[in-house]
Amino acid sequence: SAYVFHFGGGASSDNPRARDKTIVGGKGANLAEMAGIGLPVPAGFTISTEVCASYNAGGKTFDDGLRAGVAAGIAHVEAATGRRFGDTANPLLVSVRSGARVSMPGMMDTVLNLGLNDATVLGLADGSGNPRFAWDSYRRFIQMYADVVLGIDHHLFEDALEIAKEDNGFYNDVEMEAEHWQALVSEYKAIVAEALGRPFPQDVHEQLWGAIGAVFDSWESERAKVYRRLNDIPGDWGTAVNVQAMVFGNMGDTSATGVAFTRDPATGEKAYYGEWLVNAQGEDVVAGIRTPQYLTKFARERAGAKPLSMEEAMPAAYAELAAVFELLEKHYKDMQDIEFTVERGQLFMLQTRSGKRTAKAALKMAVDMVAEGLIDEATAIRRVDPMALDQLLHPTLDPKAPRDHLAKGLPASPGAASGAIVLDAETAEKRAERGDAVILVRVETSPEDIHGMHAAKGILTARGGMTSHAAVVARGMGRPCVSGASAVSIDMASRTLKIGNRDLKEGDIITLDGATGDIMAGSVPTIEPELVGDFGTLMVWADKHRRMRVRTNAETPLDCRMARQFGAEGIGLCRTEHMFFDASRISAVRQMILADDEAGRRAALAKLLPEQRADFHAIFEIMAGLPVTIRLLDPPLHEFLPQGDEEFADLSETIGVGVDHLKRRAGELHEFNPMLGHRGCRLGITFPEIYEMQARAIFEAACDVAAASGEAVVPEVMIPLVATKRELEILKGVVDRTAAAVFAEKGRVLDYMVGTMIELPRAALMAGEIATEAKFFSFGTNDLTQTTLGVSRDDAARFLGAYVDQGIYARDPFVSLDIEGVGQLVSLAAERGRATRADIKLGICGEHGGDPASIAFCEKVGLDYVSASPYRVPIARLAAAQAAL
Ligand code: ADP
Ligand code: MG
Ligand code: MG
Repeated sequence: SAYVFHFGGGASSDNPRARDKTIVGGKGANLAEMAGIGLPVPAGFTISTEVCASYNAGGKTFDDGLRAGVAAGIAHVEAATGRRFGDTANPLLVSVRSGARVSMPGMMDTVLNLGLNDATVLGLADGSGNPRFAWDSYRRFIQMYADVVLGIDHHLFEDALEIAKEDNGFYNDVEMEAEHWQALVSEYKAIVAEALGRPFPQDVHEQLWGAIGAVFDSWESERAKVYRRLNDIPGDWGTAVNVQAMVFGNMGDTSATGVAFTRDPATGEKAYYGEWLVNAQGEDVVAGIRTPQYLTKFARERAGAKPLSMEEAMPAAYAELAAVFELLEKHYKDMQDIEFTVERGQLFMLQTRSGKRTAKAALKMAVDMVAEGLIDEATAIRRVDPMALDQLLHPTLDPKAPRDHLAKGLPASPGAASGAIVLDAETAEKRAERGDAVILVRVETSPEDIHGMHAAKGILTARGGMTSHAAVVARGMGRPCVSGASAVSIDMASRTLKIGNRDLKEGDIITLDGATGDIMAGSVPTIEPELVGDFGTLMVWADKHRRMRVRTNAETPLDCRMARQFGAEGIGLCRTEHMFFDASRISAVRQMILADDEAGRRAALAKLLPEQRADFHAIFEIMAGLPVTIRLLDPPLHEFLPQGDEEFADLSETIGVGVDHLKRRAGELHEFNPMLGHRGCRLGITFPEIYEMQARAIFEAACDVAAASGEAVVPEVMIPLVATKRELEILKGVVDRTAAAVFAEKGRVLDYMVGTMIELPRAALMAGEIATEAKFFSFGTNDLTQTTLGVSRDDAARFLGAYVDQGIYARDPFVSLDIEGVGQLVSLAAERGRATRADIKLGICGEHGGDPASIAFCEKVGLDYVSASPYRVPIARLAAAQAAL
């Protein structure tokens, strides 16, 4: 049959389908591969994944071709083992195992010892000279088959076993002798007959087809469907079925079963790591019935454990196994996760696959394997999941430290933080200035909380999802954040709060784990990230192999410094409005906004000029000649307005304007839809003096730093939210005139660039024309996503989850770029921009600049750089290298 593939027992196949995971599944492909390189794999055969699809689509029946294929498969195994399926003297027993392309919990559990019945069990007892083993195997088979194929509750069997042990005065299964197992088999059969209304199937072929059908049925089980949905596995892949000759780890003290990794999956250490059990079968090792033993003497001694390791107890079989580990690593060029059995001293391999590992282990193994000559740098770069680096970039909770768990929210921004609870941004800032570590706890955050979020070590919100303001800003700042913790309720009047059922007050210490969403009382010790060693090595390789530059989105000196430490090669987005929220200047900002006329605005702007100049001065100094893109004011002005009577009164006093007047002006600024309102370059068009002040601050600072350092400073001035060429033309005029004036005053001329963000569909469409005015484009994919999808990011939380669950969007389009939709606008704008200006500089500065899938797309489109928040810079460096390979 074209759908059945033999392995082991001298089967040789040059059919490439026999080793193709899409056809025979991961387990089947690797069993064939291992047999092919001469390892001891019990003979068997694999029914292809294609049969699963036709079985489930076509009335759940097996055709004659498949029946013939399975018969030939059984004949192959019989020939290889010298036993016969259903034979009463020398019976062949098999396991029936599922195996999809990727390993998938939710699929049918393996059935072992299939082929036993009331007659063959006697043959097995005689042939092995071990009746206890034969009856033990039979009772295991009935229970497994009843559970996974017949759907009978396994507790019934477990209870019967417990009662049998009690009746005999035994504590452990090992005390059960042949006659006790035999008696239990009778009880098991009675349980089945009772539950099923007919006896346990004695016909071995009926047993086999029942198990094969159950594997295919399990592909459609609810568990499997849920897992597929969560992991983007297509439903039409199907699973393969592996039928394999049994080998027995439960034949006595020279038999055993175990699982092993060729390197330590937690640390990456090059040391075999595993567990085994003497006289045991199948899943006993992981089932927790008996405590498994260490594989190596080294691990046993390090743990101070008594029971002998396999290395000590079965030196010959262990030596053979260790040789297999070496061979498999060389063959697969990766760490392997292995299942094996020893039958009367003889080793058999039952499974191998690339082992799952922590981020830390992935990094260490990749770097070690290059040093060992096993893989090249490019392979090492591909091996490490960029997102997993996130785990390594933040301090993490010491896993050994005790925890007093309060509640759980969403893991919105990774990292761990402890500190005193503060309930508003001002208190956060004040206490942080005194040197206290604080955790800002809010119902939800808004743009005015930014300074408090910056001052805090961590952020906790009661409302809001993974893309809420708090989550996005916290990720950008690298602050740990737990959002949407509904167990948190805050009473601002008494400045107290409840987390779960615990009463707390402002000033109490809590700990957040932003990687898990856990909230703990008190302070849990953390361990610092390590950015040197293997991490540094992999980053050097990544830098060597990538084409795109990696910049950062940053505006504070702290973030700029951190981003440089993480390897940022410039600033792709410096958001000037964040500087406006600073406590020392907010009143001048408010005065400017609420001024009645241009003269009033200019008076307020004059106060802001030196402050902005100082900001840019610091940034240019830190960035030391690296490119810095500064975006002129973007958000709607009302975001800066005073909130509440107290703030209005304060402002009134500071600037000497009556409260009523201020409130009326504030009311005039109200907008129905600020995202599409008076913001971005529209501010520059209506109040050019604002952009003029900002441009002046930029050029004065650039001249000063150039004079002091002798280094070239090349500012890139970016105009936001442009839709038409004319907008850019007008505002470029403002910038150019200001530059000329400053250069004349300073007696120094600097190179600079004026460019624009592409964040409106019209701008993307008109990119060819806009490029006549713009020296660079930076794709502002946050707004471009909002405006293309017609979805407001701030309101998306209510429905986006349902959209992703129902597969309308594969992933949150604000996290991972909607490549097929928004991506078209990006590539079209890049093309049209280049057609007008061949050397136009292209970059991306939305959140997507730190997302590996989006970065791969940017490489395809040929962008010059991506810009990511500081903590995402290493992720972007690695992802850019992977994209280029
Ligand atoms: P899973 O995918 O859940 O690991 P497997 O099909 O690998 O399921 O089977 C689980 C365990 O059953 C194996 O690790 C092995 O110990 C045991 N097993 C499977 N097939 C055989 C066999 N032919 N002989 C002995 N033990 C087997
Ligand atoms: Mg397995
Ligand atoms: Mg924008």
